[in-house]
Amino acid sequence: TEQVETYEFQAESRQLLQLVVHSIYSNKDIFLRELISNSSDALDKLRLESLRDSDLDADTSDLHIALEADPGQRTLTVRDNGIGMSREEVVQLIGTIAKSGTAEFARKLKEAQESKDGAASARLIGNFGVGFYSSFMVADKVTLVTRRAGEGEGTRWESSGEGTYTLQPVADAPQGTSVTLHLKPEDTEDALFDYSAEHKIREIVRQHSDFIPWPIRLATERTEDGETKQVTDTVNSMKALWARSPEEIKEEEYQEFYKHVSHDWNDPLETIHTRAEGTFEYQALLFIPSRAPLDLFQQGARRGVHLYVKRVFIMDDCESLLPDYLRFVKGVVDAQDLSLNVSRENLQQDRQIQLMHRRLVKKVLSTVKSMRAKDADRYRTFWGEFGRAVKEGLLSDYDNREAILDICSFPSTHDPEQETSLRDYVSRMQEGQEHIYYLTGESRSLLENSPHMEAFRDKGLEVLLLTDPVDEVWVEQVREFDGTALKSIAKGQVDLDSEKDDKEEDPERAQQEKDFAGLLSWMTSALAEDVKEVRLSSRLTTSPACIVGDSDDVTPTLEKMYRAMGQ
Ligand code: ADP
Ligand code: MG
Repeated sequence: TEQVETYEFQAESRQLLQLVVHSIYSNKDIFLRELISNSSDALDKLRLESLRDSDLDADTSDLHIALEADPGQRTLTVRDNGIGMSREEVVQLIGTIAKSGTAEFARKLKEAQESKDGAASARLIGNFGVGFYSSFMVADKVTLVTRRAGEGEGTRWESSGEGTYTLQPVADAPQGTSVTLHLKPEDTEDALFDYSAEHKIREIVRQHSDFIPWPIRLATERTEDGETKQVTDTVNSMKALWARSPEEIKEEEYQEFYKHVSHDWNDPLETIHTRAEGTFEYQALLFIPSRAPLDLFQQGARRGVHLYVKRVFIMDDCESLLPDYLRFVKGVVDAQDLSLNVSRENLQQDRQIQLMHRRLVKKVLSTVKSMRAKDADRYRTFWGEFGRAVKEGLLSDYDNREAILDICSFPSTHDPEQETSLRDYVSRMQEGQEHIYYLTGESRSLLENSPHMEAFRDKGLEVLLLTDPVDEVWVEQVREFDGTALKSIAKGQVDLDSEKDDKEEDPERAQQEKDFAGLLSWMTSALAEDVKEVRLSSRLTTSPACIVGDSDDVTPTLEKMYRAMGQ
C-alpha cells in the first residue's frame, strides 16, 4: 500500500521557501555546500554515537559522501551513510525551521517583504542561513530518502517547495540520507548553472567543501579505449584546516570553513588560528562573525565551538571552552590528549579543558584589542554587534576584567558621534581630576538633560553616558580602570570644587552653609517622608534642586530592573 501523506509547511518555513524558490540569493552554487555540510555533520554524529553506544546497529565501515549526477534525468543526488533521520525528525527538522531566533527572523523577513525591500530580504537570509532549503534555488522538486542508523524503516520526503510536502514510509532505505535534486530546466541549459555537469560539481566542491573531513566521491562515466565505465573519484582533499599551517591557508579557505562550522552565510569578521604545543597540545581555529545572530540574547540558542579530539569530532556547541559572554565566537578546538569519551557533564571539571578555556579567552580578548589598534572600523563593527554581550563579562569574569575593559567602548559627552575607550577618556582627564565620571539612564538625551550634568558641562568635565541595561549592573562591581576610580555623578557627594581645592578653606561656601542652615533643616523635616537629607550643592548651575542617591543606593533604573524581575 502506498501510504503517501501530505503535510503543510509551518508558516515561517513557507515564507522562507517562497524567497528561496524565487531566488533572492545571487550565488546559487552554495546549495551544494549546504547539503554536503549537512551530510558531513550526519557522518560526525554517527561516528560519535557509535563510539558512545556499542549496541547501535549501524554500519560505520565506509563513511563517506557520494555525489551522483545524471545529466539525462537532470538530477543531482547527495548521499551519505551517516546518522539519518527518523520520520519524526524529518517532520521536525525539514518541515520546520528548528532554529532559535526563527520567530524574530520571520518577523523581520515579513517586514522586508511587505516593504518590497529585496536587498534587506537577501541580507536577512544570508544572516540566517537557509541550509537545506537552499536546494530550492536550483531544484523544482527535492526528494529526500533517509533511514536513521539503528532503525528498521526509512522515510521518503518530497516537495516542490510550494506549500506542502509528502511523507511516505520506505521499507528498504539504506542507512543515512540521500537528497535528490530535480534541477530546474532553465539552469541546465546554461553551462554556468549546469549542476549535473561533472566539471561544475568538481569546481564547487573544491571551492566550498575541500576541507570536509569525509571523502566526497563523485561517480562519473569515463570512456577509455572505446569502453564506457563508471569511475569514482574523491574530489576533496579532506585536510583538516585547523591542522594546517596558517601561512599556507588562503583567506577563502578560512571563509568557507567558517560557513561550514557556523551555519552562517556571511564571511567572518576575524579569524583566530592558534595552537599550543608541549605538555598539552591543542589547535584552535576560531572566528568572530561579522553579524550577531538574532538569538544572541535568547536562552537555549546554539552557542560555543566544536570540540574535536585528534581530528575526531566529539561535540558541537561545547559551552565549556569559552565563557558565556563570548558565546558568539564560532569554530573548532582540537585537543590532542583528551579522552574520546568526555561528556558534556564532566567537561567543565576537566583540567585540560579549563586550561584551554583560560588561554582561548585571553587569545580572543587580545585579538579584539589589536583589531581595535589596527582597524578601527572593523573594531566598531565588532563592538556594535557584540558589545552588549562582552560587557556581561565584566560581571562574570573577574580574572580578565581589565582586559575586557580594555576592549570596551562607551558613549561619552566628549563626542556625540563616537564612543570612547576608557584609556582615551583617562588621557583627556583634566589636571586634578581623579575620577572617571559616568551617568546611567535610559537614553542619551535623558542623560544629557539631567540636572546632574550641569556643573560637569560647565567645567568641561567629560562624563560617560551609559544607557545599556547591563551598564547599570557592571558599574556596581567594577570600581576602577587601570588605577582610576569610576564614579557616578548621580550619587553621594560629588563635590566638584574639592577636585581642585579644599572646600573647608572656602570662606564663601562656609558663609552660604550658615545662611541656608535654617532653610535646609526646615526642608529636611518637611520632606522627611521622601528624602534623607537636604544639602547645599555646588553641582547645579541652572536647576534649583536635584535628587541624588546615597553612594551605595541602587540607581533608579536598576531599581526598576529589579522590580521588573520581581525582586
Ligand atoms: P542546519 O544545518 O543549520 O541545522 P539545515 O536546514 O541545513 O540547518 O538542516 C536542518 C537539520 O536537518 C539539520 O540540523 C539536521 O538535523 C537535519 N539534516 C539535514 N540534512 C541531514 C542529513 N544529510 N542527515 C541527517 N540529518 C540531516
Ligand atoms: Mg545545514
